[in-house]
Amino acid sequence: MDFAFDARTEELRGRLLAFMDEHVYPAERTADEQRALLPSPWRTPQVVEDLKAEARRRGLWNLFLPDAEYGAGLTNLQYAPLAEITGRSPQLAPTALNCAAPDTGNMEVLHQFGDDEQKKRWLEPLLAGEIRSAFAMTEPEVASSDATNVETRIARDGDHYVVDGRKWYISGAMNPDCAIFIVMGKTDPDGADIRRQQSMILVPRDTPGVDVRRAMRVYGYEDHYHGGHAEVVFENVRVPAANLIGEEGGGFAIAQARLGPGRIHHCMRLIGMAERAIELMCRRAVSRTAFGKPLAAQGVVQNWIADARVTVEQLRLLVLKTAWLMDTVGNRGAHTEIQAIKIATPRAVVDILDRAVQLHGAGGVGQDFPLAELWAAARTLQLADGPDEVHQRSLARREIKKYL
Ligand SMILES: Cc1cc2nc3c(=O)[nH]c(=O)nc-3n(C[C@H](O)[C@H](O)[C@H](O)COP(=O)(O)OP(=O)(O)OC[C@H]3O[C@@H](n4cnc5c(N)ncnc54)[C@H](O)[C@@H]3O)c2cc1C
Repeated sequence: MDFAFDARTEELRGRLLAFMDEHVYPAERTADEQRALLPSPWRTPQVVEDLKAEARRRGLWNLFLPDAEYGAGLTNLQYAPLAEITGRSPQLAPTALNCAAPDTGNMEVLHQFGDDEQKKRWLEPLLAGEIRSAFAMTEPEVASSDATNVETRIARDGDHYVVDGRKWYISGAMNPDCAIFIVMGKTDPDGADIRRQQSMILVPRDTPGVDVRRAMRVYGYEDHYHGGHAEVVFENVRVPAANLIGEEGGGFAIAQARLGPGRIHHCMRLIGMAERAIELMCRRAVSRTAFGKPLAAQGVVQNWIADARVTVEQLRLLVLKTAWLMDTVGNRGAHTEIQAIKIATPRAVVDILDRAVQLHGAGGVGQDFPLAELWAAARTLQLADGPDEVHQRSLARREIKKYL
């Protein structure tokens, strides 16, 4: 077994690490300062646009998309270590490289299931980083971890569909650059097969009846960098029938297909967050003295750092194995591993970030270090893209089935 990265990955890693040092980390403070001066905190600071231009110039663009015609043409195994590096600065780096959720998943949906017109109208500007997008599935009124519960109605009316429903925690929607929603709803609410009742439809933000109502908070944060997580109401929203993605009843299958790559990207970025936490822990531990010795000399601190290193090494191997399986046997063949990393990574990284917060004392919960915000972001990934318990249930069922 060869654990080395191939030549292309190494070359891109080198370029990306340099871009992070020279542009991304220095821009973290600038972005905050610029945002404070914007008329709305949801707008994109200029420094983010500058980062995008620089990343593109350096050939660090659309690395997530495996199709070489549209993206960089990397395998999951090649992309994973690059996503990890971007996770070290999750507010800026994924957007800078046009590799941020939920755009990546939406671009994959359009690439895989969109027709030529939909690709031209929406995929091309997304790939060019000219617009942003959102994916609207979760609803406040129903347990949305079970997608068959979704109640939003997508009703055919001549050569249009009419969309009615209320969604929340719709990432990215507060950013005015978010021009298009992929909305999941029911075209056939009474259909016999509960997994064929749903469809996905493209709803431009400027369609009458679309109301981006408010920003939902995440542990008190508004998450400006990811365009917030909005409550969005669709009331009598009429869009052309040609906006349907794929066929009527195909929404559930598209939702499943969308999540495989998205999960591994999240997990790799989480490992990058954990690496940043370890770095911050070590720097703090050697620079701070309590009760006559540096914090780094305390056994308990050494245990935290050692445990964090062991955990990160384990997680990375599992995520890379999953990426390799996705490349070799496909997402379906890697089902157990995709669920395993989705369960294991956020949980373990939350734990590491929690220790890092503890080591930083009061500073750890505040805004002078990125730890509290990273903790909140990591913690939400135990819910977003499906709560842990749903993945545990399905993984356990597959294991048990072997013995029935
Ligand atoms: C920061 C953030 C960003 C998000 N972004 C988006 C987005 O862009 N678009 C979007 O559509 N949604 C988004 N979501 C919503 C997310 O996908 C949902 O919260 C998630 O799918 C769970 O749905 P729910 O909140 O309705 O919880 P529910 O379905 O009500 O579940 C609540 C809890 O019940 C338990 N539970 C559920 N099913 C089972 C089971 N089978 N076995 C055991 N326990 C179970 C779990 O503990 C679960 O957490 C986001 C959420 C967050 C926090």
